[in-house]
Amino acid sequence: MATNEILEGLIKDPDRLKDLADEAKELALQHGALLRIFENPNSSEVITYTPFTLFPSPVPKAKFLQALALQIHYNLLVDRISQDPGFLEEALASTIQADDFTANLFRLYREVQQEGRTKSIVMGLNRSDYMLDQREDGTCSLKQTEINTIAVGGICISGNLPVVHRRILQMLGLLEESQCVPENNCIAGMTRALARAWELYGQQEAVVMFLVEDVQLHKLGQRCIEHQLWRRGIRVIRRKFEEVSSTGHLNGDKKLFVDGLEVAVVFYCHGFMPENYKEQSWDVRLLMERSLAVKCPDISTHLAGTKKVQQELARPGVLERFFPDQPQVVEQIRATFAGLYSLDMGPEGDQTVAMALANPEKFVLKPQREGGGNNVYGEDIVRVLEEVKGDKRRAAYILMDKIRPKTEQNILLKTGQPLKLTSVCYEIGAFGAYVRQGKDMVMNECVGHLLRTKNSEQFEGGITARVSALDNPLLV
Ligand code: ADP
Ligand code: MG
Ligand code: MG
Repeated sequence: MATNEILEGLIKDPDRLKDLADEAKELALQHGALLRIFENPNSSEVITYTPFTLFPSPVPKAKFLQALALQIHYNLLVDRISQDPGFLEEALASTIQADDFTANLFRLYREVQQEGRTKSIVMGLNRSDYMLDQREDGTCSLKQTEINTIAVGGICISGNLPVVHRRILQMLGLLEESQCVPENNCIAGMTRALARAWELYGQQEAVVMFLVEDVQLHKLGQRCIEHQLWRRGIRVIRRKFEEVSSTGHLNGDKKLFVDGLEVAVVFYCHGFMPENYKEQSWDVRLLMERSLAVKCPDISTHLAGTKKVQQELARPGVLERFFPDQPQVVEQIRATFAGLYSLDMGPEGDQTVAMALANPEKFVLKPQREGGGNNVYGEDIVRVLEEVKGDKRRAAYILMDKIRPKTEQNILLKTGQPLKLTSVCYEIGAFGAYVRQGKDMVMNECVGHLLRTKNSEQFEGGITARVSALDNPLLV
């Protein structure tokens, strides 16, 4: 790869490297790869660029296309799980005994189930994440780390960077390579799905409501989708749980009104972790869930994205339940599963505990959490399992084979950090968008991708967690 030699050369010439990095940062700012700063996350007075890599990462084209091609199947899978109460009940039975957050989500889910379904329009915006696992024989295979079904990040920023990386490559004389950075416009696809759901709801005056956080670090990104909706003549409002709590209500037909405005679609940019919920937020979530508004996602789709569901899907025969007549789809999806193991009480879970304790460095221990920084690695696996292995608390976790991605050299551009050659690895995300009305899938697409790259010495990733940097594939 020509960029490797160029990288070595740049490291030996710090002035040139600094000039190039400065130019890259300016390009990123100009093209909207913006992030509010942690110290002052609700202010537009000082902003910075989203952390990103100086160079795009070489990604085998076939693996990249494989991830994108799988996404319509993953969309269907998530949607079908969300419509299968028997599966969700069984899959999450032990988890809700051990994990309060999942239990709270499940309590709402059951309440809505018992009340009877009001909705006929369902939509999902999700992101399935993968790493390329290196085999002993030098080949690699695409393995899913997880799927996210709520408040999916990176939609807006991921489209900002292709132009930046292409230009960097052009400036270095790598013209052919610059054409191998693919276009990425997920905002358009994501907006199309939200707009479609709004249209199907069928009330011109009704709004799309973004359910947002107090700390609005990602507001600028969310604004991109908002603008696209306004451009289509769709009104958007942004509200926090507390605001919906004080002015929200359902009318006799279960239509949701907030501040007197009818809500066609609730788009969750928030609400994916326990810290997002105060006591009253749960009542608000239930209110929205019971309403006729389209929820992105509804509670069952949220639950379909839990790590416990991911683990249950890896059991023999389970994917067949969701694709009974499509063995090829089953095969394609299953090929992306890393080893996943239950920690439920019983002989199977006991075996998982023994396996993890014997070789902790081979696994990742995952609780039912989102947003990065929650998984457990190495000797910490031993510490945690020793504490919980004797009782049902262990069922709050699942165990997963650790994926061994290839490392590359790159330079991570992060505010306030020195420019240095770093050993990095990447995670590929494929964005999915779908809309269903009754039994008809009216939209099912892969709408873009996200490449996040982190220092390979870091276990966890995540741009929000400030570990990963935004990147682009350089298809090879
Ligand atoms: P979250 O929902 O918090 O993002 P993930 O399952 O995506 O949880 O894990 C967070 C990060 O941990 C990932 O972005 C990845 O960098 C790393 N990771 C997760 N699962 C594995 C795995 N099986 N092998 C290696 N790294 C993993
Ligand atoms: Mg996640
Ligand atoms: Mg993740």
